[in-house]
Amino acid sequence: MREMLETFILPKLKGDVGDVPLSALDDSGVIDDIVFTIDGHTVKPLFFPGGDIGSLSVAGTVNDIAVMGARPVALALSLVIEEGLESEVLEKVMDSIARASEKAGVPVMAGDTKVVERGAADKLIVTTSGIGVRSHWLDANIRILKKIRHTHIRWLKDSNVQAGDKIIVSGTVGDHGIAVLSCRDGYGFESDIVSDVCSLNHMIEKALAIGGIVAMKDPTRGGLANTLNEFAEKSGVGIEIDESLIPINPGVKTACGLLGIDPLEIGNEGKAVMAVAPEKADAVLECLRATPEGKDASIIGQASSEIKGVLMTTIIGGRRVVEPPIGDPVPRIC
Ligand code: MG
Repeated sequence: MREMLETFILPKLKGDVGDVPLSALDDSGVIDDIVFTIDGHTVKPLFFPGGDIGSLSVAGTVNDIAVMGARPVALALSLVIEEGLESEVLEKVMDSIARASEKAGVPVMAGDTKVVERGAADKLIVTTSGIGVRSHWLDANIRILKKIRHTHIRWLKDSNVQAGDKIIVSGTVGDHGIAVLSCRDGYGFESDIVSDVCSLNHMIEKALAIGGIVAMKDPTRGGLANTLNEFAEKSGVGIEIDESLIPINPGVKTACGLLGIDPLEIGNEGKAVMAVAPEKADAVLECLRATPEGKDASIIGQASSEIKGVLMTTIIGGRRVVEPPIGDPVPRIC
């Protein structure tokens, strides 16, 4: 995917426009004070424990805006429908989109619908674009950050992380991918895991009000492993984490053991990873834990100038490098 992007796609586009340009490959682009993003959703099956393509298409875009520190204000929706899709399915998906949009407080303001012939798409593809605006929570966060260190940031970019920053994950990892897999034909394992799909904008606003957040990202495709490597690479710091501090549901651990996949590489749809100035990390953690979305939040490690890449102390006391995932261990979960 990365090679395809770097070879065929990015070189054709003018990637250096804006405060956070396309070339930064961050969660959203930023131009002036407008945050802009888009996400295509091809999840299979369309309905899975804890969510469906509708809730996913709202949360994915809302979260990519919210993790920049912005307030998501509007969504646009494109539906590509395969001829023959049952009307009840479409109705269920639209109900889900309506509920998710209402809960996040982000309305759908524009849309487009196309029908393609049988076989030209797998049932339904939903693409969601969204815009966000600079928020007073972000400004408050930056003011507090400026008091404790002398750097001035404008957005919560992946490249802002500094040695000493604490790394917080807002809850258990791996739930979404395992929930989708558990109901897919051919896997046939029993699991009570439900997807974590949910919009995080309200939780993130509360955390920003505490202040001291330096960078933030939603660990979607490639999971926690990919997110931490992006922080490390773009910020030019190492990140050390402690496996025993990473929240993982027992059912996810069991399923990962059976399937031979690493829970750190599985995509999540309702989690945020934050780098926080050490002076504020405990307060941000406490704030997250008081929210329903962040009740299992944990400080899992810190950035360091002593190492390169991402290094994890394992439960049995060894150390291993956490590489960015090469393939997609669980394709079509988002
Ligand atoms: Mg993202």
